[in-house]
Amino acid sequence: MPLVNKGLRIRIYPNKDMRQEIEQNIGNARFVWNQLLQTYRETYQLFKDHGYTRLQCNMTTFNTMLNMLKTEYSFLGLSESTSLQQVYRDLIQSFNKFFKYGAGYPCRKTKRNPKQSFRIQNNKSINSIRVNGRYLYLPKIGDVKFRTSKEYLELLKGSVINNVTVCKENGLYFAVVNIETIHTPIQSMGDGAVGVDLGLKNLATLSTGLKIVNLNFSQEEERIQFYQQQMSRRKNGSRGFKEAQGKYWKWVNRKKNRKTDAYHRFTYYLITHFSTICLEKLNIRGMFQNDKWSPKLQRNGLYQLVEQLRYKCDWNKRDFVQVDRFYPSSQLCHECGYQHHDLGIGVGVWVCPECGSRHDRDVNASLNIRDEGLRLLKEQKNDK
Ligand SMILES: [Zn+2]
Repeated sequence: MPLVNKGLRIRIYPNKDMRQEIEQNIGNARFVWNQLLQTYRETYQLFKDHGYTRLQCNMTTFNTMLNMLKTEYSFLGLSESTSLQQVYRDLIQSFNKFFKYGAGYPCRKTKRNPKQSFRIQNNKSINSIRVNGRYLYLPKIGDVKFRTSKEYLELLKGSVINNVTVCKENGLYFAVVNIETIHTPIQSMGDGAVGVDLGLKNLATLSTGLKIVNLNFSQEEERIQFYQQQMSRRKNGSRGFKEAQGKYWKWVNRKKNRKTDAYHRFTYYLITHFSTICLEKLNIRGMFQNDKWSPKLQRNGLYQLVEQLRYKCDWNKRDFVQVDRFYPSSQLCHECGYQHHDLGIGVGVWVCPECGSRHDRDVNASLNIRDEGLRLLKEQKNDK
């Protein structure tokens, strides 16, 4: 059975001293990130002025920079030692994404982001991070109380810990414990293929005709907006402000949890009912072009959904195929292959002028995605 890395997210309950320690570590990690980024930029500029086009972006470069920072700023010594090295590892990864995959240039980290974190490595020879009963031991911070499910608790106790990311998110504290574990694949009830058309109006339409509607978050959104307004009217840091902030966080978290839960249920359904899952590569920019709301959360949500599906397929030995985003899945008639070039964006139902079939736009698209996915899969398998 395959060994996989899993990140278990557990809620932790640090006391006042620990919170201060966490705050310090988070602050230092952010400081180092921003400093390294700036130094890199300045050095790059210097290189460019002298005719070089690319500055090596590797561990040695950044480690030297980090050591220089450490001598200059003594407060960095208060950090857990591995957490600062982790910063440049993450930064290198960010740069790689930028250079190789066309992601955005790594940006500065700000204090105002509601999600703050730092990561520490486990020294496996001495188990510097370990689980003692209901406590998670973290170096420099101590035994932090945590709460999680029985299933997770057993996993935590029985596996090797690679690293832990401590996050502060909307007023709550979490530890994402990265472990190495054996994954037992989930049995599938069906072995067919399915095409999935992701959208905005409906979260997804399956080639079986099933439509998954988006959750209704109007209550959460209304409350979030209300408390946001209240916060803006109150003095930052005052008692009233903190009160409103607490309520604001509560609703933000509630919305997020409902969403994550729904995604997990949906991807679990796909994994258990099909053995081949075909999707379209997301064209996020195009999807949100006409959308005034352009909700960032929803955008991140779809990425989250696709990534979730990708790793679940990987762990459970399902085929996961992504169809090119230029494949005209909604324009092709699934019955005869006619391409309807000027099919409008808002059209929900259309009749094929060639063969007369009546199509539900999304179901027709998902059927095409399924067939194109299967064709790609066959091609891939022939190549091997
Ligand atoms: Zn047709």
